[in-house]
Amino acid sequence: MIRTAFLGLGAMGFPMAAHLAQQAQAQGGQALVWNRTPGRAEAHAEQHGSLAVALTDTAQADLLLTCLPTSSEVDEVMQTLLPHLRPGTVWVDCTSGHPDAARRQQETLAARGIPFLDAPVSGGTVGAQAGTLTVMVGGDAATLAQVQPALAFARKVVHVGGTGAGFAVKAVNNALLAVNLWAAGEGLAVLGRAGVQLGAALDVINASSGRSNATENLIGQRVLTREFPATFALGLLAKDAGIASELTQAVGGSAPVLAQVAALLRGAARTVGADADHTAALKAIEAMNDLELR
Ligand code: NDP
Repeated sequence: MIRTAFLGLGAMGFPMAAHLAQQAQAQGGQALVWNRTPGRAEAHAEQHGSLAVALTDTAQADLLLTCLPTSSEVDEVMQTLLPHLRPGTVWVDCTSGHPDAARRQQETLAARGIPFLDAPVSGGTVGAQAGTLTVMVGGDAATLAQVQPALAFARKVVHVGGTGAGFAVKAVNNALLAVNLWAAGEGLAVLGRAGVQLGAALDVINASSGRSNATENLIGQRVLTREFPATFALGLLAKDAGIASELTQAVGGSAPVLAQVAALLRGAARTVGADADHTAALKAIEAMNDLELR
C-alpha cells in the first residue's frame, strides 16, 4: 500500500485529499494531511478520517501531494521538508505552478533520489468534490505509472511531456479560459448598452458559434445572477495567465491576445480584488461600460 500525504487543504486540496483518505481507509490505512492553518487539517481528519500531522511528519509518506497557490509556496514547503525526505518518496505537485519552478524543483529533489511530477488539475471545486478532475502531468512517465493508481481524485490523467509540461498546459488552458471569459464579458457589455436583454443574448450565443464554457456556465450562473461565488480566486487566474505570458516570452513565441488578457486580469485583480471569484473580473468591464451585466 502506498502511504499518501496531502499538503494544502484549500478550496481544491480539501476535497482532493478526501478522496485519498477514502482510498486509504478502503486499504486499511490512513492518509496524512497537513495545512498551514492547522484547524483545517483537524477538520479534514474529523470529516474524512485522515490523520492531521506536523509538516515534517508528512515526510514519512511514500507519495507527497501539494496543492498550494503558487510555486513559491511549494518552494517554501520543500525547503522545510528537504532534510526529512527519504529517497524513493515521489512528490506530485498539483499546484498550478510555473514550468521554470518545476525544472528547478525536479533537480533539487532528484539530487536526493526523489522523483517530482508537475501535475496540475482542472475541473474546479465541483470536480474535486466529485473525484472527476483532469490531471495534466509533466515528468517521467514511469514514475507517473507508479503513482497513477493513487490519484483517487482524478477521472482523466494525461502525460503531456517532460518536467514543466504539465504546468505549461495548465497555464495556457487557463489563459484560454480568461480570454473566453473576458471576451464574452465585453460582448455582453456592448449588447447591454444596445438595450438587448442579456439572458436572451446568452441563450442565442449558447446555441451559436460564439459559445464557450464562460457563456454556457460561468456567466449565466455567476455573473447575471450577481452571485460571484468565490470558488476560484481572480488572483489565481491572473497568476495563470501571467505564467502563459511568461512562457510565450521564454519560447520566443508570439501570442499578443494571451499577453493582453494577462495584463487585463492583473489590473482587474487589483481593482476588483484578488480574492474575489475569477468571474468578478467582468466588474472591470462593467465599470468601463457604466452598466451591470444582469
Ligand atoms: P486556496 O486559496 O483555496 O487554498 C490555498 C492553500 O494553500 C490553503 O491550504 C493555504 O493554507 C495554503 N497556503 C497558502 N499560502 C501558504 C504558504 N505560504 N505556506 C503553506 N501553505 C500555504 O487555493 P485553491 O485551492 O483554489 O488553489 C490551489 C491551487 O490549485 C492554485 O495553484 C490554483 O491556481 C489551482 N486550481 C484552483 C482551482 C479552483 O477552482 N479553485 C481549479 C484548478 C486549479 P491556509 O488554509 O493556511 O490559508
